Amino acid sequence: MGVQLVLFGRQGAGKGTQSALLAKHYGAVHVSTGDMLREAVAEGTDFGRQAKQYMDSGALLPDEIMLGIITERLAQPDVTEGGFLLDGFPRTLGQAEALLGITSLDVAVNIEVPRDVVLERLSSRRVCTTCGAIYSLAEPPTHPWTCDVCGGEVVQRDDDTAEAITKRLAAYERDTVPAIDRFGELGLLETVDGQGRPDEVAARIEAAVDAHLSGR
Ligand code: ADP
Repeated sequence: MGVQLVLFGRQGAGKGTQSALLAKHYGAVHVSTGDMLREAVAEGTDFGRQAKQYMDSGALLPDEIMLGIITERLAQPDVTEGGFLLDGFPRTLGQAEALLGITSLDVAVNIEVPRDVVLERLSSRRVCTTCGAIYSLAEPPTHPWTCDVCGGEVVQRDDDTAEAITKRLAAYERDTVPAIDRFGELGLLETVDGQGRPDEVAARIEAAVDAHLSGR
């Protein structure tokens, strides 16, 4: 199997953008629980309708449900062969412990971006409804608002409202920080500065991951 990485970072820290760059660099599969849930919502299944209620309010889905989803995804052949880059999981201490039990993780990277900076980024974020490519009011697609990558429609996420953003950031501090701390205790955590151009941040993450891998 290839590398087994976890990316942490506040909402808007750039996990989605960095995951796409890193997945390419390491030849690993980008596994985003947020993208998986949004696909279920778009398919309009019963599960998708339930998930949408949690997501739009800024609440986390129950651990048992997320664990089922992630266990199934990590068992698929593309992941077992290429390795993975987890984005959006684990998000609680319970999820972290469960993940440590079913994988042999190489390292977790925490992309550090201050709260006031992510607030600004999230309110101007726009995403492609088809492929998930990320834009902003400052950097729109060439033909607003049609995706440069796939031609899909680029919109604001339903959970990028002021109210849901506040709730998600609070959940991050309360539920996800303990999960990050757990990786720190195990010596499995690298922290990088998430400010600057995406390629600069990607280079920092790659350097941290490579240093960690060669130091084992
Ligand atoms: P963000 O990090 O900006 O909140 P994501 O796209 O990663 O966005 O996730 C969107 C929503 O999906 C979350 O607010 C939550 O409702 C749900 N979700 C995603 N991953 C998890 C998880 N591991 N555990 C519980 N809920 C999750």
